[in-house]
Amino acid sequence: MDKKTISWVVPCFNEEKVILETLKRISKVSKKINKYNWELILINDGSTDSTKKTILGIKNYPLKIILLSFSRNFGHQQAVQAGLDNCTGSASVIIDADLQDPPEIAERMIEKWEKGYKVVYGQRTIRRQENIFKKFTAFIFYRLLNFFSGIKIPVDTGDFRLIDRTVIDELQKFSEKGRFMRGLIAWVGFNQISVLYERDPRFAGVTKYSLRKMISFAIEGLTNFSRRPLRLATFMGFFFSSLSFFGIVYVLYIRLLTQNWVAGWAAICMTILLSSGIQLIFIGLLGEYIGNIFFETKNRPLYIVEEKKVLNKK
Ligand code: UDP
Ligand code: MG
Repeated sequence: MDKKTISWVVPCFNEEKVILETLKRISKVSKKINKYNWELILINDGSTDSTKKTILGIKNYPLKIILLSFSRNFGHQQAVQAGLDNCTGSASVIIDADLQDPPEIAERMIEKWEKGYKVVYGQRTIRRQENIFKKFTAFIFYRLLNFFSGIKIPVDTGDFRLIDRTVIDELQKFSEKGRFMRGLIAWVGFNQISVLYERDPRFAGVTKYSLRKMISFAIEGLTNFSRRPLRLATFMGFFFSSLSFFGIVYVLYIRLLTQNWVAGWAAICMTILLSSGIQLIFIGLLGEYIGNIFFETKNRPLYIVEEKKVLNKK
């Protein structure tokens, strides 16, 4: 019987310093797990350094490499989707290019997959050498996300995971542009399980998630999966309206039945500041949802592939 194929999907954005090392580690793991055929999909997400040149210069690589080059930087999630759209495997292992997620973990993922799990996601127990800010914001984000999204998105998981062909095919039916892959994969369902691992420091180079990218990633995740944030606005509206009812009674009492009704600018200022602040937050939130509708209705492609190349087919 022919061996089944498993596809590595690796998004790369300015990873010239790590890519060769990553490919080495990946080929080692692939050689070790030789009961499967392996292919490697590299997505060059509009790198401005020599990532593409480095990849094109590779000689005698033991796996078939498919290199997809985007016409510009479209983002991590789009790159992952492009990889899935172009892979042929019975399963695919999505992994970052910077070796923070050790490729060796794929072996344990495959064991679970062979037992019938359709999604095996890596769940981090330790994140080595990432700064406090990143760890703290990630901690808050995953918990907020779980609170606000109706579906259960596992905490502390990134995109490092193995997904079965069934799930890859399902994901291709999604036309939505707000591509928050880990949310979509949780939404799809099927049997899912985690594999615990320790996250290593980046092998070289710096993070490609600037603060701006992190924030827009977080907002995308939060506003694409449920209406709960909007409902929170409604609840807070009710809450403050009820409070203001007591406030009105109090104001009337002071005005009509006492003499000291001139004082109180502090209370007024605070009320205005508080309520206008809350209103602005929720107007912003409404804007996010309307913005999502805006992008969805435009129905532009998720990404543009400038070049697709098959290298080193052995
Ligand atoms: N990445 C990408 N496009 C981007 C940003 C990141 O393809 O616009 C890739 C990057 O090359 C890496 C992965 O996504 O393989 C995760 O990025 P990074 O390691 O910089 O993020 P962090 O681990 O710091 O959250
Ligand atoms: Mg990283």
